[in-house]
Amino acid sequence: MKIQAINGFKDILPDSINRWRYIEQRARDIFERFGLQEIRVPILEKTELFVRSIGESTDVVEKEMYTFPDKGITMRPEATASIMRAFIEHGMHVQQPVQRLYTIGPMFRHERPQKGRLRQFHQLDAEIIGATEPLIDAELIAMGQMLLDELGLRTSLEINSLGCSVCRPPFKTQLVAFLEQHLSRLCNDCRRRTHTNPLRVLDCKQEACRAVVQSAPSLLDMLCNECDNHFQHVGQALQHIGLDFRINRFMVRGLDYYTRTTFEFLTADLGAQAAVGAGGRYDGLIEQLGGPPLSGIGFAMGLERLALLMEQQGAQNHAEHSMDVFLVALGDKTLNPSSRLAHALRKNGIKTAIDYAGRSLKAQLKQANRVNARYSLILGDDEWLRQEGILRNMRTQEQQPFTLTGTPEEWCSRLIDIIGPAPR
Ligand SMILES: [Zn+2]
Ligand SMILES: [Zn+2]
Repeated sequence: MKIQAINGFKDILPDSINRWRYIEQRARDIFERFGLQEIRVPILEKTELFVRSIGESTDVVEKEMYTFPDKGITMRPEATASIMRAFIEHGMHVQQPVQRLYTIGPMFRHERPQKGRLRQFHQLDAEIIGATEPLIDAELIAMGQMLLDELGLRTSLEINSLGCSVCRPPFKTQLVAFLEQHLSRLCNDCRRRTHTNPLRVLDCKQEACRAVVQSAPSLLDMLCNECDNHFQHVGQALQHIGLDFRINRFMVRGLDYYTRTTFEFLTADLGAQAAVGAGGRYDGLIEQLGGPPLSGIGFAMGLERLALLMEQQGAQNHAEHSMDVFLVALGDKTLNPSSRLAHALRKNGIKTAIDYAGRSLKAQLKQANRVNARYSLILGDDEWLRQEGILRNMRTQEQQPFTLTGTPEEWCSRLIDIIGPAPR
């Protein structure tokens, strides 16, 4: 009986790992250019953390969390709540009033698996905590855009404002009143949402619901002065930086803690219009979790979706897996010194492959091509007698003699003189 991976949980195979690592490296590089520091938070947290931050009546908390009820703990469905918990627990605001943090790792949601959407998925998560200025919102959005640009991806940017605790409640009341007049035209989910989470009706994907909300009241018309001002400034700042964006008044977020600015990076290349990254401001969250009254803004991007989109859009700027040297040891006498040479090369940072199984020259050269070796060094018994191996440049097919006098450690430095240090 073969054991297979659980539905919605996927292996990331060596074939695609370079793309993943490339995305992670670009992300780390860009985030650190913007002064963000890495934080690593646990995968398991107290269930209450997510109920209190994400919101009791959200889809995530209602039906998507992996919870161990007898222990009161849950596998994180997102990273922001955990980062805020850590921020408060360690009093990080005391050391530095504005904290810029990022984390990269797996998240868990019990969703229906579909293309680019898994139950264990991976996110890049960036947060700027302790700053309220609209320029911060613009800077964070621009950082996300820079990452997408440097990955060679074509996406579009949409922004919206979700208001605050002053202007959102009266809007919600109006929205509910409006939705109640059209209940019969809404899908089953939205009929329920009308009373549990009415904002979610605005971004329902069902045709019928989309038709209804076209004439729904707009929060953008009801923003309080502060929120309106903030939103105008974010838009202006984005224009100054030179970012194209569109205002989408139907954009809401699945998590309750968002306030004011929300944004999404979208693509039409993953089937239906899909977000590769999304985020927003969460001005009440830290206080709600028992911390100081500080605001924050952040975004998350899905690594699976970024990787898929890079494949789809043909953005192939990541390095392929490669070896520097493939040692073709062909005779009994050369196996031991070749293994010593391999060790010396690896000690000097050279990526080295060697086959101990005594396969034929042809088979080994084939293998050298398969692992993308820059050079192969052929060491057969004849070469051993002549004290002269053959060094082959695998790209140009050029061959040259390679002197085998002295110790394998001496061959190693001679070889590095010829092939140069590994390109890193
Ligand atoms: Zn407001
Ligand atoms: Zn609906």
